[in-house]
Amino acid sequence: MAEFTMELNDEQKEVRDWLHGFAADVIRPAAAEWDEREETPWPVIQEAAKVGIYSLDFYAQQYFDPTGLGIPMAMEELFWGDAGIALSIVGTGLAAVGVLANGTEEQIGTWIPQMYGDATDVKVAAFCSSEPDAGSDVASMRTRAVYDEANDEWVINGTKTWATNGGIANVHVVVASVDPELGSKGHASFIVPPGTRGLAQGQKFKKHGIRASHTAEVVLDDVRVPGSCLLGGKEKLDERLARAREKAKAAGGERVKNAAMATFEASRPAVGAMAVGTARAAYEVALEYARTREQFGRPIIDNQGVAFQLADMRTQIDAARLLVWRASWMAISGKRFTAAEGSMSKLFASETAKKVTAQAIQILGGNGYTREYPVERMHRDAAIYTIFEGTSEIQRLVIARTLSGMPIR
Ligand SMILES: Cc1cc2nc3c(=O)[nH]c(=O)nc-3n(C[C@H](O)[C@H](O)[C@H](O)COP(=O)(O)OP(=O)(O)OC[C@H]3O[C@@H](n4cnc5c(N)ncnc54)[C@H](O)[C@@H]3O)c2cc1C
Repeated sequence: MAEFTMELNDEQKEVRDWLHGFAADVIRPAAAEWDEREETPWPVIQEAAKVGIYSLDFYAQQYFDPTGLGIPMAMEELFWGDAGIALSIVGTGLAAVGVLANGTEEQIGTWIPQMYGDATDVKVAAFCSSEPDAGSDVASMRTRAVYDEANDEWVINGTKTWATNGGIANVHVVVASVDPELGSKGHASFIVPPGTRGLAQGQKFKKHGIRASHTAEVVLDDVRVPGSCLLGGKEKLDERLARAREKAKAAGGERVKNAAMATFEASRPAVGAMAVGTARAAYEVALEYARTREQFGRPIIDNQGVAFQLADMRTQIDAARLLVWRASWMAISGKRFTAAEGSMSKLFASETAKKVTAQAIQILGGNGYTREYPVERMHRDAAIYTIFEGTSEIQRLVIARTLSGMPIR
């Protein structure tokens, strides 16, 4: 197990500088255009694929970095470039992690390459869990998967919503209930292969921010997938369900609920790192502006009212990064989150990004409020971090329950 460190090693610094170069030279210059177009920035994804940033190899290398700092460092740099474009680049990785974490070796080898495609023909993947009536309350999921034993197929029916890359993905990872009595313990994940009949894109959402990332409903109408598309395989699922049924029986048949989504604890620091990237980007623009903009015959940073805001912004960004790095190190080291440290990092970093980007607009005055400068886009983008992968309220619920051991509602 690697010791916790607050310093990147030489190899990590090299990767960070390479990513920063891509973010500065390719992502940031394209940000305003794709924000206005509200479309997936395919040419930028293709550029990222050409240099090796959009690939399973790169993602896996960072994911398995024994210090735990690979993913947070990569996320911070890419999202520093632009949140919407960066989400289009890393969205596939989020779906791939579902397969890496739960799939068999054969499933990983078969499906993950198809999620990425290659530099001449890039593809994306989608992770579909949320539903119109099951957002924070994951246990209320209605999408059902029923096993057709005669054909060794699963039949999936339901409507997913808010899916990043939903409908445009080559491979969809769909979470469905195989035993509604068990609540979230009765969920299983399925691969829906390219071109499967019955899967269609519903509404594409017009959003407040991260507009270069595609978000849509996914409708599943009698979607049939082979038995081999159940992630982890049937035997493992049957064993897990049997254990969950035993537990439910011992609890007097009470439906097992998991509104707190504690299972996402380990992936939350990655979202915290995205928020740190956006916050840092806005802070840097504000610092530079405050140094150069003159009013009353002196730079506006000469006023404590402005300088102290910048001091607070930087302090909070650094504190957020430390929480993110701690949780990422704990996750890779297999340390138990005894105080919901993953949720803590996501909560603090996402609230920081919202606050810091709003302060950046204020420091830029009228210019901050226009699309001539990037901070208004960064502020719109930052609003997503307190919502997806569990809202701030849900993070607080997870932390409070973990600390108290009480079923706080
Ligand atoms: C741009 C975008 C991309 C997304 N990408 C994906 C994706 O790729 N895949 C996917 O599966 N999902 C995705 N999501 C869904 C996202 O994870 C959900 O929006 C989020 O979990 C919240 O669910 P909800 O929108 O239904 O809000 P709700 O659960 O309806 O919450 C509404 C409000 O009520 C509060 N609330 C709810 N329950 C409680 C409680 N018990 N205590 C206190 N407050 C509470 C919430 O905090 C929130 O403020 C995405 C969402 C967006 C907007």
